[in-house]
Amino acid sequence: MMKFIKLLFRNQLAAVGAVILSIIVFLALITPFLPLQDPGATDLPNKFLPPFTEGHFLGTDHLGRDMLSRLFWGTRMSLWVGFVAAMIAATVGSAIGITSGYFGGRVDNIFMRFVDMLMAFPYILLAMAIVAALGPGLNNALIAVAVVNIPFFARNIRGITVGLAQREFVDAAKLAGMGHTRIILFELLPNVLPVIVIAMSTTIGWMILETAGLSFLGLGSQPPQADLGSMLGDARDDLFTDPHPSVIVGIAIFLIVMSINLLGDGVRDALDPRLRSGALSRPLPSTMVDRGGDIPTPTEDLLAIQNLETQFHVGNRIYRAVNDVTLTVKPGECLGVIGESGSGKSVTALSVMGLVASPPGVITGGAVRYEGNDLIGAPYEKLRQMRGDKVSYIFQDPLSTLHPLYRIGDQLAEAIQSHHPVSNAEARKRAIKLLKDVRIPNAESRIRNYPHEMSGGMRQRVGIAMALANEPEVIIADEPTTALDVTVQAQILALLDDLRRDRGLAIIFITHDFGVVAQLCDRVAVMYAGRIVEQGLTDEVLAHPAHPYTKRLIACVPELGEGRRVLAAIPGLPPIVSDLPPGCAFAPRCDKARPECSQGDIALEGAGSQTVRCLYPEEDIK
Ligand code: ADP
Ligand code: MG
Repeated sequence: MMKFIKLLFRNQLAAVGAVILSIIVFLALITPFLPLQDPGATDLPNKFLPPFTEGHFLGTDHLGRDMLSRLFWGTRMSLWVGFVAAMIAATVGSAIGITSGYFGGRVDNIFMRFVDMLMAFPYILLAMAIVAALGPGLNNALIAVAVVNIPFFARNIRGITVGLAQREFVDAAKLAGMGHTRIILFELLPNVLPVIVIAMSTTIGWMILETAGLSFLGLGSQPPQADLGSMLGDARDDLFTDPHPSVIVGIAIFLIVMSINLLGDGVRDALDPRLRSGALSRPLPSTMVDRGGDIPTPTEDLLAIQNLETQFHVGNRIYRAVNDVTLTVKPGECLGVIGESGSGKSVTALSVMGLVASPPGVITGGAVRYEGNDLIGAPYEKLRQMRGDKVSYIFQDPLSTLHPLYRIGDQLAEAIQSHHPVSNAEARKRAIKLLKDVRIPNAESRIRNYPHEMSGGMRQRVGIAMALANEPEVIIADEPTTALDVTVQAQILALLDDLRRDRGLAIIFITHDFGVVAQLCDRVAVMYAGRIVEQGLTDEVLAHPAHPYTKRLIACVPELGEGRRVLAAIPGLPPIVSDLPPGCAFAPRCDKARPECSQGDIALEGAGSQTVRCLYPEEDIK
């Protein structure tokens, strides 16, 4: 709720709407207790007194009635009618929408054809027809306005429900023996409620206008009862001689409808889950940096991640996703980073180019040096120039990283042209060459394909081609083969290996599969709960894993021709990084843990190339 209000008030127009509307609603609520004159008391000799007259702050109307008092009572009436009409339309419309969306088939057909019929008439005409049939009066106008707005709710809610009704949680509820009513009320309704609220907040202004319109035409409120519409209707005859009653009522209607619409837009944006996921919280263009402590000194490496600390600050919780991670690569070298899901591999990779979403991400310590220059806290322009040009990424899911609506050739050309001012023809030529480099057959015709026209393996090749587009020095591949089958995986790995040898690329290869590391990487770093627990040459680590966790990870990889071996899964789950135990984070799952493993900080130690963060390593490392 607090989050909703915060999001809502970030939209300044919505905030203005909320303030104006609250004032109006408050005044309408306290109207009966205000020392106002009788709104119906006529005083013909004093008709059309101008505003600011003694005793009549807003003057009087054509019957000498006090405008101020009439304005308050009229506003109260209009707001009430609009609100009730919106409630009726929302309740009936949503009930129709949910029912037809949930049951489908014939029920859906009958309800929707009825709704279509309502929608086939211009709705103010339909409203007038309904009032004509029921007889003029505010209640009938209210019913008419509610009825003509039912289709809007019914259609909206049906659309959402149709999607929800086929989802697994509804099947699960059916299997659990829940009846239709309970499923609709407890499974579906909570999911469509935000949509109903959104639809209401954006239509209530309309309904006030429509009821005012009917009253204006004399079909709504009948004297002595008055709402803003009928007041405007009364004042219309004297618009040119005595405009003030029309103007005052006009401004009131304008303010009400305007503030409701502004607020409604804000509510819609704040409640819409698609917008809430980020569009409104507007992540910064590069990750926030708030570094305390010393900044490590430069090294000789091409890319050096030094004592990196990246956290997520959510509410008052701190998730230490990356904690004191040091990794380096040289040209032509492939470094594997391995660990279970959630161990902080992706966050490490994204921190390099400041791509961790902020908020909530914050880099709180360490440095990332490219050729000795620190990138953490570098100006956005500099990072932008380097992204894709010096350091590029390959992500796990090529379908979600390629734009679905553009041809792949155009996307490749865009990647090139965003860093190099080359002509379209030249960019196209390079795009074809890139596709050939990643061994896509028929590159000339393939560049006209859309992503959905390619297979998963081909798409990932396009992803790699895009990463290569500007001849980067470093490629960070975040589980690039996880979504692919093993044969395609082998091809992609071979391709990356060739590229690295041909071009002297440095590769940071993130994976959770030791088999892949063995095939491709010179060195490997094992991550657990945001820290590196072991690091060394691949052969070394594979032959003599020192950390119990590494050993268990290696034991998870099946090998051909090995006969019957029990594939050991690691029992338990990785810890949640907001609440790490002291000492070794793996201790609770480790069968060798001793009491001292859960105390104090354990350092990454070792002689030579292999280092390990363990008090009782599996092998004494030389
Ligand atoms: P993986 O090793 O599977 O790539 P990640 O680097 O994606 O893992 O995530 C590391 C940790 O950071 C996880 O524990 C995850 O819960 C946490 N994390 C990632 N993104 C966020 C976020 N936006 N808010 C809070 N925590 C996050
Ligand atoms: Mg990941």
